[in-house]
Amino acid sequence: SPARPIASINPATGQILKTFLPLGDSELEARLELAWRTFGSYRHTTFAERAAKLRRAADILGAGREQYARLMSAEMGKTLTSALAEIDKCAAVCHFYAEHAAGYLADQPAQTDAQKSFVRYQPLGPVLAIMPWNFPFWQVFRFAAPALMAGNVGLLKHASNVPQSALAIEAIFQQAGFEAGVFQTLLVGSERTARLVADERIKAVTLTGSEPAGRSVAATAGQHLKKTVLELGGSDPFIVLPSADLAAAAATAVKARMLNSGQSCIAAKRFIVVEAVADRFEQLLVEHFRALKVGDPLLADTDIGPLATEAILTGLDAQVRSSIERGARVLVGGGRLAGAGHFYAPTLLTDIPKDSPAYSEELFGPVASLFRVKDLNEAIDLANDTAFGLGASGWTNEPDEKARLIEAIDAGAVFINAMVKSDPRLPFGGIKTSGYGRELGREGILEFVNIKTVWES
Ligand code: NAP
Repeated sequence: SPARPIASINPATGQILKTFLPLGDSELEARLELAWRTFGSYRHTTFAERAAKLRRAADILGAGREQYARLMSAEMGKTLTSALAEIDKCAAVCHFYAEHAAGYLADQPAQTDAQKSFVRYQPLGPVLAIMPWNFPFWQVFRFAAPALMAGNVGLLKHASNVPQSALAIEAIFQQAGFEAGVFQTLLVGSERTARLVADERIKAVTLTGSEPAGRSVAATAGQHLKKTVLELGGSDPFIVLPSADLAAAAATAVKARMLNSGQSCIAAKRFIVVEAVADRFEQLLVEHFRALKVGDPLLADTDIGPLATEAILTGLDAQVRSSIERGARVLVGGGRLAGAGHFYAPTLLTDIPKDSPAYSEELFGPVASLFRVKDLNEAIDLANDTAFGLGASGWTNEPDEKARLIEAIDAGAVFINAMVKSDPRLPFGGIKTSGYGRELGREGILEFVNIKTVWES
């Protein structure tokens, strides 16, 4: 696909806020060289030095919270309320790794027949981060906090529609006291990433985004034998069993689906409900969906803002139409809202045929798919009948059913009686076409280190 222009366009109004020229070849080369040179010294800094700077980054986020949140809302349309929470979460992940990195990466002694043997964790070098627009700050801090604490340096190729967020993040790290080469933003289109992945100075790549982007980057990285972490799409199931607290399940279902106006990889997308409680659950969902306020993301009572781009909206609408043509029934919504901006009606589909996009594809917007099943076994089969495997949410008060769900769902995470979310204290990532590798937790910081075995006899 052709390169997208690097531009901020307000999705609530369609107004072009700012456009940028991509970096020229010599500017790009200068940044790569700076990253490489900086790594040579940065790798020798202490955990305490890195932690002090990362804590300062958290303070800068806190002080500029409102300004950064407004920037994200303006560039990609998320509600201001959710944007503020996102900034707070970024500050939290900085504090988390500032506190825990030294412990996670301390030498691990091992009992062997050596006089002394242990495992040491060393940084790899410059890591390229290719990031999406849906959580323009969080996706980046989730990568950067552990990577910088481990002694790596970061190069960010952000999504082309959030360049101002990308530049703001670079400025935060510099103001926090990190040398300029420790974290740099590269304003380039995706067509330039293959060259970056191939560059000798780049030692590893992390990508959060769509499956096609993941396949393409992983193929190039494979050719050059570079380590990759891929966080791709999801079509997470949300399973409701008869013993569940239906009111709590329905209220959480709406939150889990509509988070970020539906544009989240770990949003619950397929609602799988056992027949005995399906009528009641459907009715509750319909009521909740009808009550959602769609509109100006800056207003405090707005639940759903615009979709980030026109392309996201038309793609989603095509998936919904095709599903309806194949037999899906619309319970609420079903199309674009009139007027300026990329607004889509909260939509609930049911009677979804197997050959329709709503069954097999990820729907990246405020559209939920409701499925009815006979029992727990059918629920698990349907939940697993997907190419994706990111997260799953299961609702039941039966201990045996909880155990079955935990054991049988093919996904990177199972949440019982709660919505799927990321938490710095726990690893996050998927299986199958949702990608591989983990972010967050101890597992996250171990992705981009050389796990060096040391033996002294
Ligand atoms: P996208 O089109 O794949 O874009 C993500 C990033 O990849 C952008 O920086 C984009 O650059 C770049 N890119 C696109 N095509 C590329 C290619 N062929 N080679 C190299 N880089 C490429 O994804 P999106 O539409 O922005 O984001 C939505 C997707 O991300 C969904 O599938 C969602 O589920 C997934 N996601 C996953 C997670 C997770 O943690 N698992 C989190 C959030 C989102 P340009 O902007 O310049 O095209």
